[in-house]
Amino acid sequence: MMDFSAIIKKDREERKKQKFKGTFLDYLEILKENPSVSMLAHQRMYERIMEMGVESINTEENPRLRRIYGNELIKRYNFFKDDFFGIDKSLMKMVRYFHTAAMKGEESRQVLYLVGPVGAGKSSLMEVLKRALEMGSPVYTIKGCPMREEPLHLVPKHLRDQFEELLGIKIEGDLCPICRYRLKHEYGGEFEKVPVETVDFSIRSRKGVGVVPPVDPNNQDTSVLTKLDIRA
Ligand SMILES: [Zn+2]
Repeated sequence: MMDFSAIIKKDREERKKQKFKGTFLDYLEILKENPSVSMLAHQRMYERIMEMGVESINTEENPRLRRIYGNELIKRYNFFKDDFFGIDKSLMKMVRYFHTAAMKGEESRQVLYLVGPVGAGKSSLMEVLKRALEMGSPVYTIKGCPMREEPLHLVPKHLRDQFEELLGIKIEGDLCPICRYRLKHEYGGEFEKVPVETVDFSIRSRKGVGVVPPVDPNNQDTSVLTKLDIRA
C-alpha cells in the first residue's frame, strides 16, 4: 500500500531543504562552495540540457541518417529525446545558441527567435524549455527586491576585484534603485546583512516565465507585452 501522507511529508521536507533564507554573508559562503548557484539565464538553460547527457552520432556509420544529414556529426540530447524527432539539426543550433550565450558571446545580447511552419514543434519546444526552468534549481535573490536581482550586486565597486578573485565569479550589474535605497536606510550600508532568499520559476503563477497569447500580427496589441510582469 502506498502511504500518501508519507509521500507528502517527504516531499515537504525536501522542498523545505531547498528553500533558503539567510543573509548576504550566508549566501557568499554558499557561493564559495558552489559557484554555479549564481548562473545566469543562458547558462542555467544550457546546464539543464547538458546534464541529461548527449550522444554523438557518426552518420558515416549509419546510411539512413547519412541520407538525411549528410556527413555531419549529429548530436542527440537526452533532454529532447522523448519529445522531438527529426529536428536534430535545429536542436543543435539552439543548444549552440545557449552555449555561446552562456560564455558571454554576442548571443548573450540576442533573443532566441524560433521560425518555422505550423506544426514544426516551436511551441512544444518552448513548453519543454519552460518546464525545465520549473524543475531547475532555485535562484537566489535579494529578499524584497521587485526585480529579484542577483545578491552579488550588493558588493560595492571597490571590493569587487577582491570578491571576484575569492569566488572565481565575474560580478556584473548594479543594485536596483529600491535595493540601493533600502541598503542605505534600512541596513546603514552594511550590505552583508541584507537578507537573501531562494525563489523558483512557476508557469502557473507566472513567476519567471511569461506567456503572451498569439494574436493576428497585423493588429498586435502591444499592451499585452508591456503589461507583462517580468519579475522572476
Ligand atoms: Zn533590487
